[in-house]
Amino acid sequence: MNARVLIILYLGVVLLPLGLAAASGRPPRSFWDELASGAGLLAFAIILVEFVLSGRFRTVSRRLGMDMTMRFHQLIARTALLLALLHPFLYLAPFNPPYVWDWSRQLTLYFEAEGLITGTVAWLLLATLVALGMARRQLDHRYETWRLMHGLGALLIAGLLLDHSLVAGRYSQDPAMVYLWTGLFAVAVLSLAYVYILKPFQQTRRPWTVRGVRPLGPRTWELTLDPEGHDGLTFDAGQFVWLNVGSSPFSVYENPFSLSSAPGDGPHLQFVIKELGDFTRTVGSIAPGTRAHVDGPYGHLVVSGRPDPGIVLLAGGVGIAPMMGILRELRHRGDGRPRLLVYGNRIAEQIAYADELAEMAEDPEMTLVHVVSEPPADWTGRTGVVDGALLKELFAETPAMRDWLFVICGPPAMIEGAEKALIDLGVPRNQIESERFQYD
Ligand SMILES: Cc1cc2nc3c(=O)[nH]c(=O)nc-3n(C[C@H](O)[C@H](O)[C@H](O)COP(=O)(O)OP(=O)(O)OC[C@H]3O[C@@H](n4cnc5c(N)ncnc54)[C@H](O)[C@@H]3O)c2cc1C
Repeated sequence: MNARVLIILYLGVVLLPLGLAAASGRPPRSFWDELASGAGLLAFAIILVEFVLSGRFRTVSRRLGMDMTMRFHQLIARTALLLALLHPFLYLAPFNPPYVWDWSRQLTLYFEAEGLITGTVAWLLLATLVALGMARRQLDHRYETWRLMHGLGALLIAGLLLDHSLVAGRYSQDPAMVYLWTGLFAVAVLSLAYVYILKPFQQTRRPWTVRGVRPLGPRTWELTLDPEGHDGLTFDAGQFVWLNVGSSPFSVYENPFSLSSAPGDGPHLQFVIKELGDFTRTVGSIAPGTRAHVDGPYGHLVVSGRPDPGIVLLAGGVGIAPMMGILRELRHRGDGRPRLLVYGNRIAEQIAYADELAEMAEDPEMTLVHVVSEPPADWTGRTGVVDGALLKELFAETPAMRDWLFVICGPPAMIEGAEKALIDLGVPRNQIESERFQYD
């Protein structure tokens, strides 16, 4: 299923309730009442489909990319909130005249009391959930606490809205609509059950063991896992997994990390992990033999199967992780295409795998460009950052690069700058793949 089919499917599902309402043949009401109902129907459909846009479904995230999936999830949640906020006010707005048989609107309130209470609670919870999501980084609680609250809060909102729609909804009481809402709600519940029950259960049957941890640079570690009683993971170089070390897979303790090993390296998995917060700060002290669990692979930072005549890898800091996987795999496959790695770091000590990269660069098809922004006195390589100016210089040296595939991974500012510079330099969008190390 390609991205276009997914988008059409998405639009079909979220617009279906509006279509069913339009086809219901009920006598028309005031324009504002119809608009209010439409806003409510659309908001509820969007909210229910959000459960499968959580980034944990490969069919979706592999086609659209994880960044795009999560950005869409956030943007569309805000759209649903806006529609939901409008929904009650459009009914009550002074420019929307009340029914002649209910000029005070008291009858409607009386007969639909239950549905209105669940609708009001859902309305308040939805506003809180979206606001908490937007302010998450400013709030001082653990990511895992937020994640649990977000999932349970969303489920509660969906349940309350189902009751509100079936009790108070004008169109939602039609049999076809009852089946649709109940079906979509079931999909939402099952998607949570899949992520929090089925997937962890599958992980218990394919455990991993920590082989070892070694330092790669300041606050950066290489972690290696071996499969325990199974043949390992099938993945493409450049993909990532959700990793859980030392906790039950049924817990919320798992973090996304790119695989720095290549499928051709053998069944073990390797990661480059930079200390950032609660979990990553403990990586250096993980004992060999610790049990780990892996959910994946995810991600679209994949080179295999692409026909491009050459490959440019732009890595910033720990963004080298997926690039190592890709470079190692190209070597295993004897892929003779020209390739260029531009690897930016703040200080020279941060350069990971310096020796292995230097050895790879002995291949005449591989060019290695180190860029350091705070170079030591004896630095002979390039200085500065991976930006438009540097890309312009590289294009001048190798004009054929315009037709190559560009793979970018690093800090968000570097990715955004590089993408913009490449597009300005005439590289088509479909020749640029990038991944932000930011899930939400
Ligand atoms: C696709 C992808 C690939 C990544 N690859 C790498 C890599 O190869 N090497 C590397 O060092 N880092 C990588 N990261 C970043 C890494 O996931 C975070 O640094 C790590 O999760 C931080 O966890 P913490 O508990 O140490 O920090 P915390 O202080 O708990 O979190 C810091 C931030 O990390 C993010 N984060 C934390 N926990 C999770 C979680 N369970 N799920 C999603 N995001 C979370 C949140 O934005 C949070 O605000 C990647 C991220 C993504 C999205």
